[in-house]
Amino acid sequence: MRIDAVSIFPDFFQVLDISLLGKAKAQELLSVNIHDLRDFTDDKHRTVDDTPFGGGAGMLMKAEPWGQALDKLVDSETVVIFPSPAGELFKQATAKELASAKHLVFACGRYEGIDQRVVDYAGSIAKVRLISLGDYVLNGGEVAAVAMIEAIARLIPGVIGNSESLSEESFSEGLLEYPSYTKPSNWRGMEVPEVLLSGNHAEIAKWRKAKALERTGQVRPELLP
Ligand code: SAM
Repeated sequence: MRIDAVSIFPDFFQVLDISLLGKAKAQELLSVNIHDLRDFTDDKHRTVDDTPFGGGAGMLMKAEPWGQALDKLVDSETVVIFPSPAGELFKQATAKELASAKHLVFACGRYEGIDQRVVDYAGSIAKVRLISLGDYVLNGGEVAAVAMIEAIARLIPGVIGNSESLSEESFSEGLLEYPSYTKPSNWRGMEVPEVLLSGNHAEIAKWRKAKALERTGQVRPELLP
């Protein structure tokens, strides 16, 4: 998969060089290219923002630098993602869907966001998704893009060594994951549930399913079937 991200703070994406994603990049399972939006300006001050029509607080990102960036990066196979609190909520199902795309472009807003015509223009040359990381407001799209890239990229075959762990984790079956334990079996007087030490795989699976249902019911009842 190829990922491009456009931002006025390209350094935010350095974390993608660490750990499993860094390895996936090194193994060429994933290519990530970060672009500075200011490189697509043509004035001396590399201006990317201006005041909003109709008034209001704050500045908006100007259309033309984005237009130039999209013209350079987008082709017919691209999905352009605008991280935005006004978008659809990002879920595991969204990550799964996007993991099969060939090319993603993340357009990271700052200030009060991006001129709406950029989104409309992107929609005329590629598939577009406005995606929110959650019901809160971040200062910019970079952190949201990094979170989405990590959730998407770990679903690309080969990125996670043990692919079984993907099918067992939270949301994979619509439930939150059951509680997990590692050695020692007694830690500060707290024992691991006995069934997990029994070696009886059918009983362990039953216990885990019951715990997943219990936890989901307590924390996120809306996810229960
Ligand atoms: N004025 C915008 C509004 O009220 O919807 C908020 C702009 S926010 C300060 C600047 C940028 O941060 C947005 O353009 C978007 O790229 C990003 N952003 C903020 N919150 C986000 C969220 N929950 N999910 C994804 N991106 C977000």
